[in-house]
Amino acid sequence: MRENGDAIMALVKIREILDGRHENKHVSVRGWVYRKREGKDVIFLVVRDSTGVVQCTVKKDCPGWSNAECLTIESSLMLEGTVRPDQRAPGGQEISAENVEIIGLAEIFPISKDKSEEFLRDKRHLWLRSRRMSLIMKVRGHVMDYAREYFAKEGFTEVSPPMFISAACEGGSTLFGLKYFDQSLYLTQSSQLYLEILIYSLENVFCIAPSFRAEKSRTIRHLTEYWHIEGEWPFADMSDLIRFEEGLLTHICQQTAKNCRQELEELGADTAKLAAVTTPFPRMTYTEAMERLAAKGSKLKWGDDLGYEDEKLLADDVGKPFFIYDYPTAIKAFYCKTYRDRPEVAMSTDMLVPRIGEISTGGSREDDKEILIKRIKEMGMNPEDYDWYLDLRRYGTVPHVGFGMGLERVLTWMLDLENIMDSIPFPRTTRRFYP
Ligand code: ATP
Ligand code: MN
Repeated sequence: MRENGDAIMALVKIREILDGRHENKHVSVRGWVYRKREGKDVIFLVVRDSTGVVQCTVKKDCPGWSNAECLTIESSLMLEGTVRPDQRAPGGQEISAENVEIIGLAEIFPISKDKSEEFLRDKRHLWLRSRRMSLIMKVRGHVMDYAREYFAKEGFTEVSPPMFISAACEGGSTLFGLKYFDQSLYLTQSSQLYLEILIYSLENVFCIAPSFRAEKSRTIRHLTEYWHIEGEWPFADMSDLIRFEEGLLTHICQQTAKNCRQELEELGADTAKLAAVTTPFPRMTYTEAMERLAAKGSKLKWGDDLGYEDEKLLADDVGKPFFIYDYPTAIKAFYCKTYRDRPEVAMSTDMLVPRIGEISTGGSREDDKEILIKRIKEMGMNPEDYDWYLDLRRYGTVPHVGFGMGLERVLTWMLDLENIMDSIPFPRTTRRFYP
């Protein structure tokens, strides 16, 4: 407690100090020691909290001196002092300390500048405290908010589909099986089929939930567990779908460019690239994409699937997010609706971005029960396994569309991350599942 007449000391966030809101005021901050430098009569502590880092100077005659002397990197502390503008301090403001309290003294912190990527991934639980990781995770949180904002604005209800499932959605090769008491189940690869159930009561629905893929190859765009932004709605067609998806990505990019300026700058991300994302996105058919690739010497034939290298070639050419649509039916999932007059073409569209390639797949879903059964059989599957799914076509079937967008792929592109592993706090790959 301070003496009568003194302003009551305010517990503040470091961001507020850096914004100049507490100049010459008496404040107190709580956080962790980020850096420490000791002189003869002064100790410089750089303190971090969830909002930023601020330099604090502790002088020898200050009552907190002996505590400051003891403090080690990553110790938690509470520090009280007066905010002074100082051009030499990073952020232009520093705290001249009057008292320092140790909350939790840290042992010698194992992370330092010279450590390898592999070491940092083994120590992920500690590396997440780094400036870079905290900034990425902060933007990630905001991007999830912006996605939800957009869905809400468009009248969508957020729903919670299951992760344990009994039948595959995207094909067997990347399906994780698991023992479920005395049965065999799978981890979901997509929530789509469950969202399709829910459109019959809630109409426009979405979820942001994990999807699991047993991807055996290591690439810069695959994880075994990722967060899937999925939407599904009735009474809609391909142009509604494309308009929605480009609107969603544009909203996310615009909001991030506007509200996360500081984070983007500190991360060295390209704010102008995000601010430049506007609708409509360029779009080309699969057939046009094949022609473009052929002009570049590609040997692919109509009907072949585009690989990462092909997607990258096209996307780097376009230089911004765009759509490819009208894919061959043969390379698409059983639920894709086909053109009645051209059954070899599916109403399916991918969104692509430079360097990463595909970030979303969407399309119209087959709403005709007989065609759906035929497609399931053609894919070598048993219609009985999809009985509940077929019920959706038996009772009030409706034309509908939906899409799935990989949150981590979006972030990897937005923030120019080298590897998708840095876009999620605890990346899972074939070899990495600790901590
Ligand atoms: P790819 O061909 O690139 O492996 P996909 O076509 O199999 O992807 P979809 O089934 O279309 O993937 O899934 C929808 C979206 O989910 C993809 O566009 C992508 O953004 C994301 N996604 C798919 N698999 C992964 C993964 N293993 N790791 C991270 N994101 C993924
Ligand atoms: Mn896809």
